[in-house]
Amino acid sequence: MIEKYNISYKETTNQILLINDTGIIIDSESIIFQNVNNKLISDLHPFFYILIDILPEYNQVFNFECINLQIENKHYTIDATLYTHGKNEPAAFVFHELTKQYVLYQKAAQKRNEAEIKSQLLNQQNNLLEEKETFKNNFITNFSHEIRMPVNTINGFSMLLENTNLEQKQRYNLNIIKDTNDKLKTMINDILDISKIETDQFSIYNMRFNLHEELNILAKIFGKKCEKKHLNFNFNLDTECPKYVVGDKYRLTQIANNLIGNAIKFTQIGTVNLSVSCVTKNNEKATLLLSVEDTGIGIENEQINSIFNGFYQVNNSIDNDGFGLGLAITKKLVYALNGKIELKSEYGKGSTFKVTLDFDIANNQKDTQPTQQHVLEDANQNYKILLAEPLEKNQIEFLNIISKLKNIGVTIVDSGDHVIQKLHQSPFDLVILNLKLPTMDGLDTARYIRHSNLEHFNNIPIVVISENPSKEEEHYCKERRINSYIGKPFNKEEILRKIKYIQQKKQA
Ligand code: ADP
Repeated sequence: MIEKYNISYKETTNQILLINDTGIIIDSESIIFQNVNNKLISDLHPFFYILIDILPEYNQVFNFECINLQIENKHYTIDATLYTHGKNEPAAFVFHELTKQYVLYQKAAQKRNEAEIKSQLLNQQNNLLEEKETFKNNFITNFSHEIRMPVNTINGFSMLLENTNLEQKQRYNLNIIKDTNDKLKTMINDILDISKIETDQFSIYNMRFNLHEELNILAKIFGKKCEKKHLNFNFNLDTECPKYVVGDKYRLTQIANNLIGNAIKFTQIGTVNLSVSCVTKNNEKATLLLSVEDTGIGIENEQINSIFNGFYQVNNSIDNDGFGLGLAITKKLVYALNGKIELKSEYGKGSTFKVTLDFDIANNQKDTQPTQQHVLEDANQNYKILLAEPLEKNQIEFLNIISKLKNIGVTIVDSGDHVIQKLHQSPFDLVILNLKLPTMDGLDTARYIRHSNLEHFNNIPIVVISENPSKEEEHYCKERRINSYIGKPFNKEEILRKIKYIQQKKQA
């Protein structure tokens, strides 16, 4: 009879036991274990006790998995199949010996569990680190924003004081205040920049700009600085570089400023070379290589990677009033713009920093009028608007809309700092701010205006334009006494209606 079952289990190590309806093993093979004849099935495993009741009743197949048996001091792990035939014929118990497989399986499962536990632990640690990092970055961002306010106030009042009659000693002291405040401002802006990049709050302002003009301005400024330090300065601009490009003018200037500034700072004798060449160009794009070379103190090989870390400065004899953040920001900016930065340096001989950046070539290569001036001058203007908008096409769109108003004068600026500068120079009746402004963003600029102690600042109506409007942002703006919040896409009528409303309120 055993043979009958054996046919189906030929391939595996198994043992067949025949059991009568009272649970006694009446016949068995001896393949896995011996000497089980005449034993009660429940002697093999107490669990089988419950089967004794089933045996006479059912004509069925039952499957059991992963049963641990201990027979004659040996451990077995088996799967078992029970064929019951009621009282008609003995039941057959087929034991499949799977001890080895289960041990392997258990080991694998244990390993998997351990790996899972480890990865969960790692995840937890990562989450904790991320939370800490986010907290740190948010703290730095908020802290820097808050500290910028008093720094800007000192700046504003220093400018006012500068225009009064001061004695020589007073002017000297004022200059110290201004210098120190400028340094503090640079440091805060640097820290804010780093934390903005790290918290993904960093914006890229793609705008059409005159590349040649921007680089020439830079060359002029740094040429003068070199002159003062008795250094030679060479500027070479490849004529292959397109004149008008679309890209982030502010970030390009920031990168160049950092590198040229350092080249001058760390060079005592010799030359600083600035060259901009066009590596590749097609109808749409140009890859530019900005190279800043100096004959300064150079950097030791071991320091080359570290100087790109934040707050890292090489101990050297140069009087350095920096904070070790410039290169960290430069590298982050270059990467954020999908560019590359390389450094070659020879200690004692000089350094060359090379930055590769892609720019779109502007469709329109014709010269346009600079926009940072009174662009809409009405002879009878009695309502002065200061518009802060970085993108030229938006400036034009806006001008077209507000030119429908009568007796107005509009001054356009392209950054938050310029708004403050303009407000210090002359009074305005309305400030319109794009929230996405470089240097000081729209919200910071609005907060500065509202917190200023100057009365003509404090009460200026402010309209803000948001590129990505949201209820939360609108609420935030209202809480900060911003008179009107306009989300893009906006329509002409809405803007005109809001400005007219503010105008009428002033007259009332
Ligand atoms: P900072 O100039 O404010 O100290 P940076 O991040 O710009 O900070 O530079 C970090 C350090 O790298 C500098 O302190 C200086 O030691 C080194 N370094 C940067 N540029 C040069 C250079 N052109 N020549 C020599 N050393 C440089």
